[in-house]
Amino acid sequence: MAIDAHIHLQDFPKFIGREAFNSALKQRQVFPIIVGYSHASNVAAYELASTHNLPYVLGIAPQTVVDEGLENFEEWLNFVSAKKPSAIGEIGLDYKWADTDERKKQQLKAFEVQMALAERLSLPIVLHCRRCCDDLVTTIKDFGFYGRIMFHSFSCKVKHVEALADNRPLISLNTWKSKEKKKAIQHFGIERFTTETDAPYIAKSPLEVKAVIEEIASIKGLPEKEVELKTTENAARFFKLGDDYRGYSLF
Ligand SMILES: [Zn+2]
Repeated sequence: MAIDAHIHLQDFPKFIGREAFNSALKQRQVFPIIVGYSHASNVAAYELASTHNLPYVLGIAPQTVVDEGLENFEEWLNFVSAKKPSAIGEIGLDYKWADTDERKKQQLKAFEVQMALAERLSLPIVLHCRRCCDDLVTTIKDFGFYGRIMFHSFSCKVKHVEALADNRPLISLNTWKSKEKKKAIQHFGIERFTTETDAPYIAKSPLEVKAVIEEIASIKGLPEKEVELKTTENAARFFKLGDDYRGYSLF
């Protein structure tokens, strides 16, 4: 069983073409969780996922907040809650985009409102975080969010995961390599991890989780088959998936 816990499959046709889209959709090796980041991408994610009976995650990402403002925020969130996603995401802070105090404040507000929504719906959250790990931890703690969290495209440090231990964090790893990522793999047990591609933006196909599984297996000295199974089950618990993911396997 293999999982891609974070993929923007709805963007494949426009970004890398129909052929890549069709083969990603047809493959039965890696189970995809389709994620939105703006209202338009939430609508596309929902339509694609519900047509193919796949799970989806909906939310307004911090880079969208900078891009599109918050004028229609309430309407966007009405869509999110009406569609009953498996989690709220990707949400968080992105200081590459928020380069002024005003923009940071806007991102913070959007993040807090969506944490409140996740609590109201009893859903976990999928975090997007760029150059913001300390503030991310502080924001979640100050808010008092008590649900589960997933670090998407993990780029923080061991200490940030530990600071949020009460939220039983899931660390989602993609093909991006870094020293901090390696340290986290060495530090935490396999029950903390899952795999993703963030395709088409980081990887180009859900099958690329194979490289992530191989990396975790080699660092932890575990069989690939076991890493594949555990990382998938960790995500299945996090997103409360049904049984559909069980038929998908790489190893
Ligand atoms: Zn993403």
